[in-house]
Amino acid sequence: MKFRHAFLCFSMFISAMGAGLFAADEIHISYTQMRPNLFMLEGAGGNMVLCRGEDGLFLVDDQVSAVSEKVKKAIKAIEPGPLRFILNTHWHHDHTGGNEYFRKGGTLTVAHRNVRKRMMKKNVVEALKRELEASPEGALPVITFSKEMTWHYNGEEIQIYHVPNAHTDGDSIVFFKTSNVVHMGDVFFNGLYPLIDYSSGGTIKGMISAVKRVLKHVDSDTQIVPGHGPLGTKWDLVTYLQMLEHVRDKVSAMKKQGKKLSEIKAAKITAEWDATWGTKWLTPDQFIEIAYRSI
Ligand SMILES: [Zn+2]
Repeated sequence: MKFRHAFLCFSMFISAMGAGLFAADEIHISYTQMRPNLFMLEGAGGNMVLCRGEDGLFLVDDQVSAVSEKVKKAIKAIEPGPLRFILNTHWHHDHTGGNEYFRKGGTLTVAHRNVRKRMMKKNVVEALKRELEASPEGALPVITFSKEMTWHYNGEEIQIYHVPNAHTDGDSIVFFKTSNVVHMGDVFFNGLYPLIDYSSGGTIKGMISAVKRVLKHVDSDTQIVPGHGPLGTKWDLVTYLQMLEHVRDKVSAMKKQGKKLSEIKAAKITAEWDATWGTKWLTPDQFIEIAYRSI
């Protein structure tokens, strides 16, 4: 069941990136209560965080458009009341697909300014060989920011900051400081090799810097929500950083020596990580190629 769920999520992720049809009917939106006022929701696309309280509901990311109705119902089952704000951690359709649907219900969408810029035009995600059409006007974030902002909302101090050129050029980290919960968007894939969308400005160097910045502010009690994969801890993030640094060091050294991509793949530099990171989505070879092209 778990595997099937994971499979559906990732086939939905691929579909969201433009690959075709999927079985939205089979998707169930499940949730985990992390703190009295904070929930992690999973379904089809990037993980979501729901923050409830007196000021009104606030959602981080909204998955693919095909499941918007289900996301709405799942939120209602947790807490009735209007969804006032959605923050998009980046532009990919498996994190912004519900924007237009919720906007019709009066929800305001917030994101880094590069998210809006990218959603206004057609994009190619080279790493997945996908072409994505521009988003409709109603899906575009209505509030944008450039570096960082702090919200005092629902009794939480929420720090939202941009991490440059990481998974894309418009990634936000959302840190619920009062509750010690952080949503990292696709800067963190927990237990699977990450996509670095180098055609949207992503780099492995930026991913590493972003993870290091987050690590400065977390402790062993922090709940860390990845864009994909299960809820994580500081130690999951530390392991992820070690894997990223290992791959960056090896690939850049071999690239400097003039090795071809095929030779770097053949060197099996990720062998020690493959059983944990390379079986659920991107294969080791795909990840090496992405790292190579993002250096
Ligand atoms: Zn993404």
